[in-house]
Amino acid sequence: MTESWEDKLSCATQCDRCHQKLGQKDQRIFSVYDHQPICMICKKAEEERSDYEAVSKAAIGQCLIDTELAYGDPGGYCFHHFYPFTC
Ligand SMILES: [Zn+2]
Repeated sequence: MTESWEDKLSCATQCDRCHQKLGQKDQRIFSVYDHQPICMICKKAEEERSDYEAVSKAAIGQCLIDTELAYGDPGGYCFHHFYPFTC
């Protein structure tokens, strides 16, 4: 992974799931399923999936391993699978 996750998340111009446009002020968050930036409506739908809890726990564990290797910054990237932010 060479692309900065911050660029990918914070300045994504559309939701990866429903392709709704994301403005600079719109909140976005990472999917725990595919790690793409998605809108809050899609996140809510994701949270209602029956496997969400299991998948999110697995995702955070893997995320901590990956980010330590790829970014040397285990804090932010994993955090934003659960806490949205804006551009
Ligand atoms: Zn969406």
